[in-house]
Amino acid sequence: MQTSEKLKEIYQRLSNHYGPQNWWPAESRFEVMVGAILTQNTNWQNVEKALANLQSAELLSLGSMSELTVEKLAEHIRPAGYYTLKANRLQNLFHLLNEQWDGDLDYFFQQPAMALREQLISVKGIGPETADAIVLYAAEKPVFVVDNYTHRILSRHDIIPRECGYYEIQEILTDNLDEDVHLFNEFHALLVQVGKQFCKKTNPKCDECPLQGLV
Ligand code: SF4
Repeated sequence: MQTSEKLKEIYQRLSNHYGPQNWWPAESRFEVMVGAILTQNTNWQNVEKALANLQSAELLSLGSMSELTVEKLAEHIRPAGYYTLKANRLQNLFHLLNEQWDGDLDYFFQQPAMALREQLISVKGIGPETADAIVLYAAEKPVFVVDNYTHRILSRHDIIPRECGYYEIQEILTDNLDEDVHLFNEFHALLVQVGKQFCKKTNPKCDECPLQGLV
């Protein structure tokens, strides 16, 4: 089977098995950005607790969060772990948005995907995965978000080599899929689902997995 056919088959099987994922779980683009930084190296349940803290303190906006000191912000996001580091990363992002875009998110998100991505990556503490999550899920522009699950699942099915970097994986995906925001949105979310449930780092549960037998 060719790479593009294999990817289509994966998407179809996962889509049939799990149904629509409707990511990102957030009420605003700003919340997506905050969540994308908070979710680094932690699970989503912890992120939800940190977001709930911000919400209950009525702080979940660029204006309010930008005014907090790193120490104060860190207190609110403590459940997400690495809270001082993440508070610094959030403030780095807010600095970019306020200084270069006058805090105008509509204006910021109007940029072409690649320009947006470059700017986000220039922020200390934002790497390719976080930047691409913001471009795809907040700006709704077509970039494929690659993570450890993507790497593991695709390499186990010989779609990518085992030794393969972020951009190489992304290129293989974008070269073999239609450039479509909805497709990229759902596909990434589905890979996370199957990765968490079946395609574990050790002892993958292939017998029960919807991708069982795919060659
Ligand atoms: S658990 Fe097995 S069948 Fe499922 S994605 Fe991983 S390697 Fe493939």
